[in-house]
Amino acid sequence: MATWEDAPLVFTEMVCCPHCHTLRKPIVIRTEQGGDSSRSRKQVCRICSRRWVLVIEPPGESLPVFGNLDFEDGTL
Ligand SMILES: [Zn+2]
Repeated sequence: MATWEDAPLVFTEMVCCPHCHTLRKPIVIRTEQGGDSSRSRKQVCRICSRRWVLVIEPPGESLPVFGNLDFEDGTL
């Protein structure tokens, strides 16, 4: 039987409103599938009522895992 001890960890940042930085869950107006397998969500903040779009990238397009600073080109 599989256990939680050997389950892989996936780290992601909590998403906040880019206007007022609240972590409160926004109102999702519409979710759209992108041609590159990404998804975008048009949302409205419950606190400041401003609009913003969350883009969820497909696997392989995400940012480096926290703590992994082994960039090949060394530009960062
Ligand atoms: Zn807001």
